[in-house]
Amino acid sequence: MSAEKMNLCDLPYAELERFAVETLGFKKFRAGQIWQWIWAKNVSGFDAMTDLSQTDRAKLEEHAVIRWPSIADVRVSSDGTTKFLLELADGELVETVLIPSDAPKRPNDITVRMTQCVSTQVGCAMACSFCSTGKLGFKRNMTMGEILGQIQVARRYVNDTQPERPIIRNLVYMGMGEPLLNLGNVMDSLRTLQHPKGLAFSPRRITVSTCGIEKGMREFGDSGLAFLAVSLHAPNQALREQLMPRAAHWHLDDLIAALEDYPLKTRERITLEYLVIAGLNDQPEHVKQLARICVRLKAKLNLIPYNPTPDTPYKAPTPEELLRFEKALWAKDITAIVRKSKGQDIEAACGQLRAAHEAAE
Ligand code: SAH
Repeated sequence: MSAEKMNLCDLPYAELERFAVETLGFKKFRAGQIWQWIWAKNVSGFDAMTDLSQTDRAKLEEHAVIRWPSIADVRVSSDGTTKFLLELADGELVETVLIPSDAPKRPNDITVRMTQCVSTQVGCAMACSFCSTGKLGFKRNMTMGEILGQIQVARRYVNDTQPERPIIRNLVYMGMGEPLLNLGNVMDSLRTLQHPKGLAFSPRRITVSTCGIEKGMREFGDSGLAFLAVSLHAPNQALREQLMPRAAHWHLDDLIAALEDYPLKTRERITLEYLVIAGLNDQPEHVKQLARICVRLKAKLNLIPYNPTPDTPYKAPTPEELLRFEKALWAKDITAIVRKSKGQDIEAACGQLRAAHEAAE
């Protein structure tokens, strides 16, 4: 039996270079060509690598593979949100969502821009009580190739199926899993995304969302590889323990203190995400507590109306309740922006499609 072939999608640039030189006996610069085929041109096989000789391509076939996740299910919402259920090599399922951005900035601009939301783990260990992924428990970390495979698969899908060929413009690490608990692969994926010979993503177009993990947050901040968003969801420790029992092991006061110290570039702000659950975290006392935190951190606040999931006691706010909460925050000079839930008809909230898929089996 020959040794397992190397999936080149899992190798950061330096490792691909080493593999090309040491295992394949190639000149170093060949790694740059292979890298461009994989990341910029998004090919799925070595045949396409026409600037390599037949002999080199045969050598690649022998020792390596280019393995992306496969599409197990696609659902398109009436608002254009497209959700993919992807199958990984070991049969595990993860979700990724493409969300159309709002109106174009210039008239006559017909380019459709999308924001893609990617997963970082199969399942999640954090067990937040409102979240479908939390209910699955933790299965395993995703590799760098699996994290970025979500983007390559989606890029190919929109190029093949949509005449206007939308551009995936922004990325949010807000799918299944807790990115800071898979920090090595997440940081490798960010470096690969930003490599000038590959996808050449600007760090200003990428946001990583965390529930707040002490170990890793500072390292992530110092790397400057992406913006940080923090899922707050509760403005006091007691409520946070109820909604996010594991995340709340790091006391809210300590999380806020760490965010006060978090390294930010000029004009950069931390984003706080706040799931609005009717009657639970949207009362006048919560407005006061939340406003205090936002002022202290000079944070931007995104309000996300709770998207109901089965088997939870929580209720979505009515539009009136949401507006009342938003206005109460504005009255305290807080810039709160409501992030409308898109793709509600296709179960687009974190972990919902996979949960629906499993329920149907
Ligand atoms: N673990 C990271 C990233 C994954 S969750 C984090 O906690 O930030 C990404 C976002 O989806 C979080 O803000 C989470 O609160 C939100 N989310 C999860 N379940 C939801 C639901 N039922 N309705 C609306 N948003 C939900």
